[in-house]
Amino acid sequence: MSSTCTICKHRDAIYTRPYSGEKLCNRCFCGSIENKVRATISNFEMFRFDDVIAVGVSGGKDSMALLHILTKLEKSYPMAELTAVTIDEGIHGYRDEALRITKESCRKLGVEHVTLSFKQLFGCELDELTQILLEKTNGAGLTPCAYCGVLRRRALNSVAREYGATKLATAHNLDDETQTVLLNILHGDPLRMVRSRPISSSRRAGFVCRTKPLCEVLEREVALYAYLKNVEFQSVPCPYASRALRNDVRVMLNRMEEKHPGLKYTVYRSAEKLRESLKDYVSLESLGKCKHCGELTVNETCQECELLKTLDT
Ligand code: SF4
Ligand code: ZN
Repeated sequence: MSSTCTICKHRDAIYTRPYSGEKLCNRCFCGSIENKVRATISNFEMFRFDDVIAVGVSGGKDSMALLHILTKLEKSYPMAELTAVTIDEGIHGYRDEALRITKESCRKLGVEHVTLSFKQLFGCELDELTQILLEKTNGAGLTPCAYCGVLRRRALNSVAREYGATKLATAHNLDDETQTVLLNILHGDPLRMVRSRPISSSRRAGFVCRTKPLCEVLEREVALYAYLKNVEFQSVPCPYASRALRNDVRVMLNRMEEKHPGLKYTVYRSAEKLRESLKDYVSLESLGKCKHCGELTVNETCQECELLKTLDT
């Protein structure tokens, strides 16, 4: 027997929110996600009415849903401009489908689409980097994701900067954020959590201000939104995904959330509290220029150059 939506009180509910007990119909569920994103944007003052916003789109459900929502919300910011940016890491048999989907969806949404590859930027595809990594370390070194994440961040920033974007929006959801909190602790770098806010805190030259409008939406709710809105996205997972520590943390958090609904929000809020109390201490860190590439960094050499150096490329 179907139950009635808690919000509109007349349509049939299609989803029960485990952490609040709300039963929601298709329309009220999608509305609640869009409202949550709107509230996050407003609470963190993520966008101005005249921003040029570059949206990082990988072709996965999160980024395609984000592009869909921002295109909708953009209508309330008539001066703002949206551009989708895709980074082609060079992962054989995986990126090709994503590029087709992103291109097609951007055409339908009427959003300009720009792509940039690791090959163009770093002279090497991720598949090639992984091969070198395997030969050098015999599988005992960093995972492909560690390289991919850092290099993609650099690539997104470069293309957003070149394009003249004033904001760079990425599709990190609540699950990504809570995994990152635990990973920072597991990697012995808890202060990194303080630096990674839903909107990057300082307006440093050379860095496009990064925002995460989906950071308070659970991954499963982003997926349901994408499904209900018929948002096309790539479903094939990246062949390297399962090798990362992040994957183990994801499985652990999902198990705990199932037993204790709302736990991911608690982790997220705890990180917010820590960030608030430590922000003055952490912002004392001064930034210099990387001695190899000139990008801003807290160390002598930036993280990207450190990684590329280990590969000797
Ligand atoms: Fe890159 Fe890892 Fe994501 Fe694959 S799963 S795209 S290697 S970060
Ligand atoms: Zn309803």
